[in-house]
Amino acid sequence: MDEKKILKRTIAKSEQLSYIEVPFSVSDKVRQINVAYEVESKNGGETVVDLGVRDPYRVRGWSGGARSNLYLGQSEATPGYLPGELPPGNWAVLLGAYRIPQEGCTVILNVTLESGKQLNCEKHWFKGDLHMHSVHSDGDYTLEEADEIAAAKGLDFIGLTDHNTVSQNFSAVKRDGVLRIPGMELTTYWGHCNLFGAKDPVKDFRVENIEQLHACIRESRSNGVKISINHPFERGCPWDWGWDVDYDWVEVWNGPWRSGNEETVLWWQKKLEEGRRIVAVGGSDTHRPDPYVKHGMPTTWVKSSSCSLTDVIEGIGKGHVVVSFAPEGPFIELSSGNAITGDVIKNAEGHRQVKLVASRVEEGDQIAIISEKGVEIEKGVSSGKNDPFLLTWPVSGRRFYRAEIRKKFPDIDKKLMAVLTNPIYFDYDS
Ligand SMILES: [Zn+2]
Ligand SMILES: [Zn+2]
Repeated sequence: MDEKKILKRTIAKSEQLSYIEVPFSVSDKVRQINVAYEVESKNGGETVVDLGVRDPYRVRGWSGGARSNLYLGQSEATPGYLPGELPPGNWAVLLGAYRIPQEGCTVILNVTLESGKQLNCEKHWFKGDLHMHSVHSDGDYTLEEADEIAAAKGLDFIGLTDHNTVSQNFSAVKRDGVLRIPGMELTTYWGHCNLFGAKDPVKDFRVENIEQLHACIRESRSNGVKISINHPFERGCPWDWGWDVDYDWVEVWNGPWRSGNEETVLWWQKKLEEGRRIVAVGGSDTHRPDPYVKHGMPTTWVKSSSCSLTDVIEGIGKGHVVVSFAPEGPFIELSSGNAITGDVIKNAEGHRQVKLVASRVEEGDQIAIISEKGVEIEKGVSSGKNDPFLLTWPVSGRRFYRAEIRKKFPDIDKKLMAVLTNPIYFDYDS
């Protein structure tokens, strides 16, 4: 629930040329702070009251007399204000009493504390596109155009992954809209990886040898970055650095489904069989208008407690991720008890079941349940089948299960991946 406060402060002529604080408190649930103000004076004499905000530790921004409202979020803020963490505690609106009329004036502040897109604090599936390019590198779209397209497609977040540049992360932003995840596609001549979560992950992108790559990754780590290896088996620009690097996620699905993605999923499956737990993500890699490469194709779904930068990145880190070919494409919820895709079930002995709920499926869709033994169950969706499609099966001592749906796309007459989940993992004592 958003919290709205109306705060009034009367300023006397004697306070002219001083700074005044109007305190308010912020809880750990707050994801965005909005402040609007009006100044009332009786005789309309010259009145100038400057505006700013401080958090419990520092001044977060100052707009002087230039603005009558501002917002502060975790990844975006009104120019002049620092986006970032919103530490709970005692905050204050700062008023600069620059010109105060003889009879004084009253400042009316409307402070709104937004709790983000939260549904009773329960986790919720948010959807977005983690990989795209804009006019800040070799793309044709402005960020505003990307925002608009994403909003029209119902996406909640977009990753700003321009090649070897970060100016996109510092560009002016809209008040409302889609969460922009700051990023950069570290684009080397031997492979690409996305650096997510920091506006300025590395000071210098130039990587010519493996030591420089490690140094670059270390620097981005120190700035809180998550690293995704991109399209590692793509013919034109594969990942040739090897896998002995520090990374978090792998982009198993880049743009339209094709052989490079198929190879990445085969590689990922092999790593899962070896006991590795690697989060699979997707991204469209959209650069410009194209009949096949489009924003949200594929769509990465993330289950998190809100659509804030911190929560979305945390949700991906936990593997609470499903990738579908489009925002309106099919979707799979895999669960076992309270555990969902990405979770690890400890002490998994017993009779625990795994459950699949596939929604927006159509006749002919092929559902596969995959473990470390390969494909364990295959089911076709037949005509008249109810949507959602339900399936349960016993854990049977397996170390993970994941699910895929492949679908026939009539316009190109091909059966392609339509949705894939991250695994649920099972740990055993012995
Ligand atoms: Zn790339
Ligand atoms: Zn790219």
